[in-house]
Amino acid sequence: MTQYTDLLLVNALVLTMDEEMHQHEPGAVAVNDDSILAVGPEAEICKEYSAAQIVDCDGKVLMPGLVNAHTHVPMTLLRGLADDLRLDVWLMGYMMPVEREFVSPDFVRLGTQLACAELIRAGVTCFADMYYFEEYVARATAEAGLRAVCSQTVLKFPAPDAESFEDSLAAARDFIRLWKGHALIVPSVAPHAPYTCTPEILRATAQLAAEFDVPLHIHIAETALEVENMRRENGMPVVPYAKKQGLFDAKVLAAHCVHIDEGEMRTLLHAGAGVSHNPSSNLKLASGFAPVQKMLDAGLNVGIGTDGPASNNDLDMFEEVRLAAFVAKCVSNDPTSVPAATALTMATRLGARALHLGSVTGTLEPGKRADLILVDISRLHNSPRFRREPDNVYAQLVYAGKASDVSDVMVNGKWLMQDRELLTLDESEITQAAQEYARKIDIFLMAREQSVFSKLVALGGSVEEESFEVQVKVKLDEAAPVLEALKMPEIEILRKKHYHQHDVYFTFSDPAQGRLRYREDEMVDDNEQILGVRGRLTLIGPSREGDFAHNVLLSRIRYYAPASNSLRFYREYFKPVSEIQVDKERLRWLVRYKDEEFYVNLDRVDTPQLGYYLEIKSRTWSRRDAEEKAHYSTELITLLGGSLNNTITKDYVELAGQGK
Ligand SMILES: [Zn+2]
Repeated sequence: MTQYTDLLLVNALVLTMDEEMHQHEPGAVAVNDDSILAVGPEAEICKEYSAAQIVDCDGKVLMPGLVNAHTHVPMTLLRGLADDLRLDVWLMGYMMPVEREFVSPDFVRLGTQLACAELIRAGVTCFADMYYFEEYVARATAEAGLRAVCSQTVLKFPAPDAESFEDSLAAARDFIRLWKGHALIVPSVAPHAPYTCTPEILRATAQLAAEFDVPLHIHIAETALEVENMRRENGMPVVPYAKKQGLFDAKVLAAHCVHIDEGEMRTLLHAGAGVSHNPSSNLKLASGFAPVQKMLDAGLNVGIGTDGPASNNDLDMFEEVRLAAFVAKCVSNDPTSVPAATALTMATRLGARALHLGSVTGTLEPGKRADLILVDISRLHNSPRFRREPDNVYAQLVYAGKASDVSDVMVNGKWLMQDRELLTLDESEITQAAQEYARKIDIFLMAREQSVFSKLVALGGSVEEESFEVQVKVKLDEAAPVLEALKMPEIEILRKKHYHQHDVYFTFSDPAQGRLRYREDEMVDDNEQILGVRGRLTLIGPSREGDFAHNVLLSRIRYYAPASNSLRFYREYFKPVSEIQVDKERLRWLVRYKDEEFYVNLDRVDTPQLGYYLEIKSRTWSRRDAEEKAHYSTELITLLGGSLNNTITKDYVELAGQGK
């Protein structure tokens, strides 16, 4: 008496990818409803089961679908937007400004559809995502029929879908509550990374994930810089820091783990955390080489991920699996590292476990969901076939197989692709709509690239403030008389500061763009001890707004912002045609003179060696009161011993340019 099942897949080379790596040829799989009922040699299965539908697999490989352990699927719409840049310029100069402008439920939905079509074509049946508006990722994924861990991002900056982290945390809670228990979607929370989150966010997200027993998805130790900063600021590497914040109270999926040591591996193992290794992304962004073989030896569940399509740039897991094997060999100088069978295991069984879905998917075993693919390994680029060793087939798949060899994909017992035809998504409709987004983003970026000002604004997080400055400057032979003159009773000293100032001026081919000044102020005390360092970025208007008697200038400052990134970042982002460096010692007083406040700057310009200058400056918010301030400035500079015959209208950049 045979047992009835919905579907029998016969005449296949079945790779179960289970613990013992069982293979059956010819093998068969019995599928009932959404699950695998039986797996084994064809003769046995066909004797035991009868089915309404029997599919002849034509000798193809029948294996579990691939698990993409870390990605950001909506970013398909940003694929190819900006490449060959450093991580900070790429992220803060391009990705984040464009995301702030364009990411919406519609964007996320379309990007997810595009990704799902690509993933299905490449034999992926399950992925772990991290993005904004994750509910729309979940919806589009469920409609496409794929399985996914969908993680709602929480970070300390305002995000496209939340003004504050409290908002995104609340959104994550609602999302998890709504989707928990869905047949295909596992809702999850994603504190973006330890360096983009506060300890409070790490703690709150871990508690949320633990409360609902869902995974927590996070980037860990992606770059050496991240680890360096973490050590400097917190005296420990990234994993112990995350542990200290209670992160591992949750079931963690840690993406990257490029720069972790063996102690950190033990912590991850002890916490039951999964790891996603993302070789393309690490190579493309030059993040380094993850210690993959060591993590595997430690017993960690290491999956393989593509990372977002803006840093890869595709979602091709065949390529990723091959790279995982190749890179591990080259880095360890050992060609026996990460053999093909291991690499494929990472993309299936270990990947599913890394996502905390090991009991659901990742192998062909009775009781697991029917997430499976058919792969043709008889095509030209993969012929001939050797059968001497059972591992030959893994080598064929990993070293010669291509995503386009995948002919059929089933998730949760439902076909999503048959004979290379997508059944749940309309490819041409999706690609057309994606092209329309690219057109709009191109227009946005072209407008931004037109001026230094708009590029500065696009960086975000800074305050626009237009102000006028009245300024008079004289050359001095020595500084001491000024110090003496400041003791005069007419001059009330409100504040005094001492700085080492390092300025770099960026100039642009079009002088109308103005000049951008990157300034690092080191405030020092009387004993020359550095009290603090402050970075500032100032866009200085191109032309003087006017001048008054005795060479008193009125200049306009269009914009200034805290410089939270490195000089190198701004150089690569703004691409100036030239740079001029000016270093000086500045004594600065805020004084009151005739009921008005003025800054008195006594500068010794060291780079280039220009000697002493005395400057009186005062900020005005309109041209109207500038006249009066100009008058008092000339009085004040004379009182302090400056001669109006020696006034200089040029700034240090111009003086430097003339070598004076
Ligand atoms: Zn990522």
